[in-house]
Amino acid sequence: MTKEESLKKMSELVKILNQYNYEYYVLDNPTVEDNEYDSLMHQLKDLEAMYPNDILPNTPTRKVGDDYLKTDLEQVVHEVGMMSLQDVFSFDELYEFDERIKKTVRNYSYCVELKIDGIASTVHYEDGLLVLGATRGNGLIGENITKNVLQISSLPKVLKKHLSMEVRGEVYMKRSVLDSLNEERKLNGEALLANPRNAAGGSLRQLDPSVTKKRKLDQFAYTLVNPANYGIHKQTDVLSFLADLGFSVNENHRLCKTIDEVIDFIKEYDTKRKTLDYATDGIVIKVNELDLYDTIGYTVKVPKWAVAYKFPAEIATTKLKDIIFTVGRTGIITPNAILDPVLIAGTTVSRATLNNEAFITTRDIRIGDYVRVRKAGEIIPEVVEVDISRRTNDLEPFKMIKFCPVCGHELVKKDKEAEHYCINPECGGRVLEGIIHFASRVAMDIDGLGDKQLELFYNLGYIKDIADIYLLKNYQDELIKLDGFGDKKINNLITNIEESKNQSLDRFIFGLGIRFVGSKASKNLSKYYQTLDNIINAKFDDLININDIGEVMAQSIVDYFNNPKHLDLINRLLAYGVKPINKIEESLRLFEGKTIVLTGTLERMSRDEGNELIEKLGGKASSSVSKKTSFVVAGPGAGSKLAKANELNIPVYNEEEFLEMVKEYL
Ligand code: NAD
Repeated sequence: MTKEESLKKMSELVKILNQYNYEYYVLDNPTVEDNEYDSLMHQLKDLEAMYPNDILPNTPTRKVGDDYLKTDLEQVVHEVGMMSLQDVFSFDELYEFDERIKKTVRNYSYCVELKIDGIASTVHYEDGLLVLGATRGNGLIGENITKNVLQISSLPKVLKKHLSMEVRGEVYMKRSVLDSLNEERKLNGEALLANPRNAAGGSLRQLDPSVTKKRKLDQFAYTLVNPANYGIHKQTDVLSFLADLGFSVNENHRLCKTIDEVIDFIKEYDTKRKTLDYATDGIVIKVNELDLYDTIGYTVKVPKWAVAYKFPAEIATTKLKDIIFTVGRTGIITPNAILDPVLIAGTTVSRATLNNEAFITTRDIRIGDYVRVRKAGEIIPEVVEVDISRRTNDLEPFKMIKFCPVCGHELVKKDKEAEHYCINPECGGRVLEGIIHFASRVAMDIDGLGDKQLELFYNLGYIKDIADIYLLKNYQDELIKLDGFGDKKINNLITNIEESKNQSLDRFIFGLGIRFVGSKASKNLSKYYQTLDNIINAKFDDLININDIGEVMAQSIVDYFNNPKHLDLINRLLAYGVKPINKIEESLRLFEGKTIVLTGTLERMSRDEGNELIEKLGGKASSSVSKKTSFVVAGPGAGSKLAKANELNIPVYNEEEFLEMVKEYL
């Protein structure tokens, strides 16, 4: 983006985010999901960091809440400003936060609390009596909601001690209350309340307190203004002090000595929170030593001694900017959604699969639509549906392309198949994808030879088919001239290519990309036939006797090896020194007879790698938990599968423990 384009984008983002703030904070009626808002905010912050001199005065990155207050309610000026919290979306960002704290102060710990998804509020007591309640508003000025907070049964009207103080916390609506309210509203034909947070907001900022009363709100207290006045110097002590005075304090908090302990808490509560009767949207991490706060400091909007870790959402809405088509190694044409970047499950997603023509047309997905996108764990992001309420009139229905986007060959769609294919075997797109597959981690596993490098080498003409990979060493003089290729990198790459010559027979077969032959079938072939020669000469009648190999696959294998071009390719590979060896029999049987389920996010390996490892060690990798499951490996974010394993008393290990089990076989 040029500077001019960036500034234009900045101004658009400020405008739209201010509108969303108004809808969220003033109307209690957001029109977009939080992670869409968060993604836009992220983009704005990035642009502002690039052009700090051009930050607009009304930017939402520097203000709390919204400036517009509901004018019907009286205004209250906060003596001590009510700030927001800095969001973080990953453990890496948490480590960075900890590093920043470490640079400023010593001897600190963290008080870790659940982030309750409700409305920030403050209450003043005089001589132990509740005298004033206010919303956060824009942080400096809030709205007087005294009559309404008096309707909250869990908020004490009289304290157990005659103290004057200001206490802050979160007003929220229990999920069970929201459910029964909505049931009632449904019967009365009234609009349903969208979620507990908006329901709490709308209920709290009512002019008529009897409406608030009916909504049965609750409050959790977590902040004491000027704690030193009461001899308190730790956040954990604030919480017990408030509980002793009669406040409802959330019991799910913990003193953590290190950031790793904080992360353990987050992992634990990502599962536990799903069983709570109130909504949480993250974890708040606060330095526990209150006397350090002034040294650590504040920005205009947030304190620097705390952050809010936001739980990754698995579904988000974003704009579909374009649909582009890619060609797979089998010629399959996949439509892909090009999206406005959005944060889902902790990563920024800007592309998602649209599978095939029918997938798009049955959902009537159009370029320009707002679409809901799902990403769970390692799964490829997928567009789920269109948000029709946001569709504009000018959007054209989707039309499938008729010609291959790479070679221009006419596409073919077979009866009863949903996919379109480019049937040109010479198609550059197909050939390149085939080479990428061969070198990939699941096949020959050549480190350093990923899709970007292969695309480059293919376009430069150095690698035109899989056998050419083993001739790349002849191009070292050319490689050194390429951007980003130093001696060391080239040496490593060539070494990795050389080492792959002794890759196992099953991976080699899988790497050839024979239609319908996946990694499991390749293993079966390797186990049964033992040598490449035997596989090449296998007969249809013999093939169909092998486990999991049906007629279609058997025919495809026979056809593949009957094609002289393929035999030629294999002969070249062998001539260059590739010597695939059957290693199946040698492989250990650690997990023989065991069915293992991986769930949640694994940090040291991908889900595919984990499953592959299980299979390699003789086990069965399954995606669902049942009585037959031998054990479950659960990472952060594990949800229903973990719950089911606990319910069925199936052993659960974390990733670390799992790696310990397999370490000598890696
Ligand atoms: P925030 O909600 O991210 O965090 C600050 C708030 O957390 C505090 O003000 C407090 O009310 C609350 N909180 C809950 N539990 C707490 C605890 N234990 N300790 C301390 N504080 C606790 O910040 P924000 O400025 O209120 O809101 C920003 C967020 O609101 C955005 O990240 C976005 O997700 C959402 N938002 C959404 C829209 C929309 O249109 N969907 C618009 C504006 C804001």
